[in-house]
Amino acid sequence: MKTLSIQTTFNFSEALLDWYEKHGRKDLPWQQSVTPYQVWVSEIMLQQTQVNTVIPYYVRFMQRFPDIAALATAKLDEVLAYWSGLGYYARGRNLHKSAQIIYHEFDSELPADLEQLQRLPGIGRSTAGAIMALAFHQRQAILDGNVKRVLSRFYAVNDWPGRPQVEKQLWQWAEALLPNKDLAKYTQAQMDLGATLCTRSRPDCQRCPLQSHCLAYAQNTVSDYPRPRPKKTVPVKHVQWLVVENTHQEILLMKRPGTGIWGGLWCFPEFTDADMESVCQRLQIPISETLSLTPFQHIFSHFKLNIQPLKMTLAHALTVIADKPDRIWVKISAAEKLALPAPVKALVRQL
Ligand code: SF4
Repeated sequence: MKTLSIQTTFNFSEALLDWYEKHGRKDLPWQQSVTPYQVWVSEIMLQQTQVNTVIPYYVRFMQRFPDIAALATAKLDEVLAYWSGLGYYARGRNLHKSAQIIYHEFDSELPADLEQLQRLPGIGRSTAGAIMALAFHQRQAILDGNVKRVLSRFYAVNDWPGRPQVEKQLWQWAEALLPNKDLAKYTQAQMDLGATLCTRSRPDCQRCPLQSHCLAYAQNTVSDYPRPRPKKTVPVKHVQWLVVENTHQEILLMKRPGTGIWGGLWCFPEFTDADMESVCQRLQIPISETLSLTPFQHIFSHFKLNIQPLKMTLAHALTVIADKPDRIWVKISAAEKLALPAPVKALVRQL
């Protein structure tokens, strides 16, 4: 890369640490009396989610699950209920699974080892690096979305950062730029810079401590980086949700299988064809007329889901049909307390 030489004289980490001392965030809930458990939970919650959204969830979660033992011995359903609304529920399931492994195999102590951390469900290389640096003050790099964006601009990387060979190069830079001390501060500084100055849209280059050596800034091409993912068409799936209400103002919810989209959460019965007879047979409810509610779309990272809700009001309480482990009749007013994915919660609120 022709421009790398101009950066050799620049002390990247020193500039970042100086900036962090003056402008970094030091009052986040997980930065108070730091424990490895706090760091871990916060890092998992912060994956794909912004700090301001995470804070109330984190506080509630910590009040209920203050340590690894509390989390490991809790029911998954309850953990997911505390996660409900944060999205990307595999994170909550993996957190619970990992807590059980740590509880049984590591005497409730997070291992201070990069390799062992990465063997735990839900902990990738960057999260393991963050835990090592923030909780154990070890010299390990991170490469989350913020750092990828900063480095892509700083080095004007002319390719999508998700491409394996580009990612490999970014890791090499992230490691080469590490300071010899203040690893926790440096790690937090990188996250803060990406979240507050070198933001996705409208980065505030005038206040950036890296500006004097940032290639994208020098070339006046900041908005060109990071390079986007090469386009591919996003598949669209179509499903129907059956919103069955009985005469007790209860609705029928089904628990999704443990793996896959919304695994372990409660949803309306879902089907992909209009064969209402077999759907009702499967649900053990009499066939009744349905009313089409307003359809809506939910967007996942790898596909779009078009949802057509159909309302069916039963003329009976259906008390003969007992709840089963994977289905439940629940009062509309109480349904929100269950672990529900966001679109189900939104639909329940409209009922
Ligand atoms: S100068 Fe601008 S583009 Fe470059 S790292 Fe700083 S904020 Fe990001």
